Amino acid sequence: MSRVDNNLSSIVEEIADEMKSRPDRGDVATYIPELANVDPDCFGLTVIDAHGEVFSGGDSDMAFSIQSISKVFTLTLALGIVGDRLWRRVGREPSGNPFNSIVQLEMERGVPRNPFINAGAIAVTDVLVSGHQPREALGQIVRFMQFLADDASIGIDHAVAASEKRTGFRNTALANYMKSFDVIENLVDFTLGVYFHHCAIAMTCRQLAMAGRYLAHSGRNPTTGLSVVSPERARRINALMLTCGHYDGSGEFAYRVGLPGKSGVGGGIFAIAPGKASIAVWSPGLDKSGNSHLGRIALEKLTKRTGWSIFGA
Ligand code: GLU
Repeated sequence: MSRVDNNLSSIVEEIADEMKSRPDRGDVATYIPELANVDPDCFGLTVIDAHGEVFSGGDSDMAFSIQSISKVFTLTLALGIVGDRLWRRVGREPSGNPFNSIVQLEMERGVPRNPFINAGAIAVTDVLVSGHQPREALGQIVRFMQFLADDASIGIDHAVAASEKRTGFRNTALANYMKSFDVIENLVDFTLGVYFHHCAIAMTCRQLAMAGRYLAHSGRNPTTGLSVVSPERARRINALMLTCGHYDGSGEFAYRVGLPGKSGVGGGIFAIAPGKASIAVWSPGLDKSGNSHLGRIALEKLTKRTGWSIFGA
């Protein structure tokens, strides 16, 4: 066991304790009304190392709405179905724009900049809907999460899904706009319904860190030995998380944290330290780019203390 592993337990606990008591917590998302009810004082952190050892602190066993973190997993599934043909419908460049921007989509003739902005993730979801009833497509996504996390209790928070559906006017605009360029194949309502519901999957930090282990270990869960994607695909998904995972805050996240990661407006961030660890952090208050304020600060502290930044210690 390395020096870092020996200390990891205290590092994680110290960070969680410090974050729990900080007064600057960011602002909880309110544009999805149900998310506004979440307690901003929550904070959870889980790190799972290469041996499968779990280090947790704070509210790491409290379920939260994973929101856009689900996009990492729908991207994994869609690449499994259509492979590189996906890139005819979605780009791979950072957007430098807010997660729900409409302007860029018009300039780029309905082809979203990357799979993690809302428009791109809706296009990816559409791939999963093709040839299925929406309910089946959604079932497949939830079962994939349960399989990855080895936890059949993972499910959807239907109140959050309904809340987003009621107020998802911008996402509806994005989807309709893409439909006009034939980027969306299915009925807009079907694709959006599946999108809203997979964003509303509820998971704990522990479940999320468990689910994402394949990305930290060249596409395979090192404990079970089961391969989820090829090493090349894992590397590419990680590259997209690094460059696009935090919307117009992606540069800042790389600068401060230095890990591939994906955030969600529920306040979660999933990140990986290649070959070393799978990490999930949750603090509901967001910064101005819609990324968890304390989640990012916690990860910055973690990479400083472990030397895990992919850019050097
Ligand atoms: N469901 C959210 C939306 O479409 C996801 C945004 C996010 O988590 O960044 O607005």
